[in-house]
Amino acid sequence: MRIEDAKIVAELAELGVELRRGSSLADLTSLGIGGTTDLLRITKHESIPSLLSLLDSHGVPHRFLGGGSNLLVGDGELPWAVLQLAQPNPDLVLEGNIAHVDAAADLGRTVTYCAKHDLGGMEGLIGVPGTVGGALRMNAGAYGMQIGSYVREVKLYRAAARRIEILRGEQISFEYRHTSFAPDDMMLAVKLELPSKPYKEILQGIRICNEKRRSSQPLGQKSAGCIFKNPPGASAGRMIDELGLKGLSRGDARVSDRHANFFVNAGKASAKDMLGLIADVRDRVFSAFNIEMEHEVVIWNA
Ligand SMILES: Cc1cc2nc3c(=O)[nH]c(=O)nc-3n(C[C@H](O)[C@H](O)[C@H](O)COP(=O)(O)OP(=O)(O)OC[C@H]3O[C@@H](n4cnc5c(N)ncnc54)[C@H](O)[C@@H]3O)c2cc1C
Repeated sequence: MRIEDAKIVAELAELGVELRRGSSLADLTSLGIGGTTDLLRITKHESIPSLLSLLDSHGVPHRFLGGGSNLLVGDGELPWAVLQLAQPNPDLVLEGNIAHVDAAADLGRTVTYCAKHDLGGMEGLIGVPGTVGGALRMNAGAYGMQIGSYVREVKLYRAAARRIEILRGEQISFEYRHTSFAPDDMMLAVKLELPSKPYKEILQGIRICNEKRRSSQPLGQKSAGCIFKNPPGASAGRMIDELGLKGLSRGDARVSDRHANFFVNAGKASAKDMLGLIADVRDRVFSAFNIEMEHEVVIWNA
């Protein structure tokens, strides 16, 4: 999607929105797959209601990008613009056991910064790439913990009300890779309440989690983490592995040899390759186990 209208371009500048024309989503996602579109970088939260009114009034469809680590984006010229929060400085302030974090902050850096200030609980999230906003949307978690458990308050743009609001933690439901936010709500900032723990102890937990990841995941390769959610009482990776599908490929899209629920881009995979591989694996698992697997990866395919 190209934003050609000079009036829109001028208003974007007034709102402090940076227009990056023809951005490649392959460069902005950890899978390295995706076509091109105009990227709008938001520098001021307060400008978001006006920005969205502007886009809606001119019929400009849009999607919201965090760090791009859980996304499979379609090929070619994309039919929507992409919005992304620019990272403010500072993006994280501590006040006792409360971390005030901007949604654009890097999740891993947030975990380590809090750890260095003796605030723990999020050790399992070390090694989960992406932003704090993306982690909130997905309720990211690993090794028995999830970010939702620590959320005290979220500042968000509520699309239905067309304004910025604050939600308390207990007003939000956080489930396994699912939250009660509306699909077009935009997370802007969060207050996390974290338990006090000595840095040394947190570091030990972080090392254990790092080691588990290193020994089980294809960390040097382009992926989006787990492709499928674990169905209740089953493991997606185990079922795929039991069917001998590690190494199965379509073009350069490939089921990882290391972790059967990680699909990697081993070269120049297209979205078509990756979607074909996902559909193939899902069908084979359904035939063998009569279990319908749901995507964990978010698919933006027109
Ligand atoms: C190597 C690897 C390991 C991983 N391990 C894990 C793991 O252990 N556990 C786990 O849970 N995930 C894991 N993931 C997946 C991914 O890192 C998480 O889902 C992450 O939280 C996504 O954040 P992001 O900023 O990259 O979101 P994106 O990929 O940019 O976006 C994902 C979705 O969130 C939405 N979104 C992003 N930011 C916002 C926002 N501010 N407001 C509203 N919506 C938003 C997007 O529109 C999209 O729908 C892994 C990924 C990789 C590549």
